[in-house]
Amino acid sequence: MSSSSLIDADRKHLIHPVINYRAHEARGATVLESGHGAYLRDIDGNELLDAFAGLWCVNVGYGQQSIVDAATRQMTKLPYATTYFHFSSEPAIELAEKLVSLAPASLRRVYFTLGGSDAIDSAVRFITHYFNATGRPSKKQMIALERGYHGSSSVGSGLTALPAFHRHFDLPLPHQHHLPSPYAYRQANGDDPQALIAASVAALEAKVAALGADNVAAFFCEPIQGSGGVIVPPAGWLKAMRDACRRLGILFVADEVITGFGRTGPLFACEAEGVEPDLMTVAKGLTSGYAPMGAVLISDEIYQGIAGDARDTAVVGHGQTYSAHPVSAAIALEVLRLYHEGGLLANGQAQAPRFAAGLDGLLEHPLVGDSRHRGLLGALELVADKDSRARFDASLKLPERIAAAAYRNRLIFRAFGDNILGFAPALCYTEADFDELFARLERTLDEVL
Ligand code: PLP
Repeated sequence: MSSSSLIDADRKHLIHPVINYRAHEARGATVLESGHGAYLRDIDGNELLDAFAGLWCVNVGYGQQSIVDAATRQMTKLPYATTYFHFSSEPAIELAEKLVSLAPASLRRVYFTLGGSDAIDSAVRFITHYFNATGRPSKKQMIALERGYHGSSSVGSGLTALPAFHRHFDLPLPHQHHLPSPYAYRQANGDDPQALIAASVAALEAKVAALGADNVAAFFCEPIQGSGGVIVPPAGWLKAMRDACRRLGILFVADEVITGFGRTGPLFACEAEGVEPDLMTVAKGLTSGYAPMGAVLISDEIYQGIAGDARDTAVVGHGQTYSAHPVSAAIALEVLRLYHEGGLLANGQAQAPRFAAGLDGLLEHPLVGDSRHRGLLGALELVADKDSRARFDASLKLPERIAAAAYRNRLIFRAFGDNILGFAPALCYTEADFDELFARLERTLDEVL
């Protein structure tokens, strides 16, 4: 198909996630065709530097032949095996064992999903089942953070606290609550890490006290909020929130869908602070986007509570046809090998200071008010006035103009609605790739001044 007929057919038939439908009909799609390393190529032959790893997922970069080989081998041997009932497959078992060996020690069991949204949805169902089965049916209230993103399932999008995910969807649900995000740049006491941590802990304690600890099931958070604008909390925040949950008798759920698999430095962000969650959700970097897969990892205590005693013969009615899909599992095993034996985790860690220096260097730019980052996850926040931190007027449509200028400069990153620019380069980025990224980014910012 020609470029124009593809775009026309897209306009007519393909519903895109998280977009204004009318604006998309008017603009038309950008059709991507191929990728290699840190670069993508569009249908018109333009080479684009991808500074967002697809959708913060292609952590190993494009064109990793060993992943293609692993998928081909598994597809040839056995393209599908259910894990329903008592069936299983070798890659699914190996991956479960491997993930448990790599995850925080509290997490002993894995349930595989197709992505992050159903990992969150599965976590909610497991938590509900667990408290009902262990004689605490009043524990139903769930707490998350403002600016949080936990996918767009019917339940998870209520834990998500971004307005577009609630508007016209009758969300959040009555049992879903939100606390202020640890957004240093925009919060009183933001310059004082200990005060920011204390404020988050106090907000959680107050919410649990208001709802009654016997009624609260869990607190959900991203170690670094991604879609809410890459909100990087101070070091120690995650541990303080985990400890508070333990004190308050509620479960702590770490949503590592973005932060997992080397994105922030270690394999999981929880590792950096020795945090052991009760449940952890992952997706994205698990297969690095080469096939859909997510997972929820749970503690043995939750597993045993759900499993109940041997006299209860009823099935636990939770499942998907493609849970633990063997091709996705074979891909994930190879992706994990690339992070470790393939040196990508180490490369991501070695390159992080260059990424940080590049972002911080742009604080000199007249548009940039804040730079924040950890590992290879980062953001710039653009402001109309650096002293007052005043935002640009939405009518200026700055994110759209920046995205268009970036594309002209053959660079892809995420321009959020509130003038936050998000970056998540692949762990395979070289020094030359970073030099290109910051040269193209500076040119882009200059053009929209
Ligand atoms: N949780 C977090 C923290 C995410 O960032 C996302 C997606 O970006 C999800 C959950 C949902 O994952 P998915 O888009 O794979 O359903």
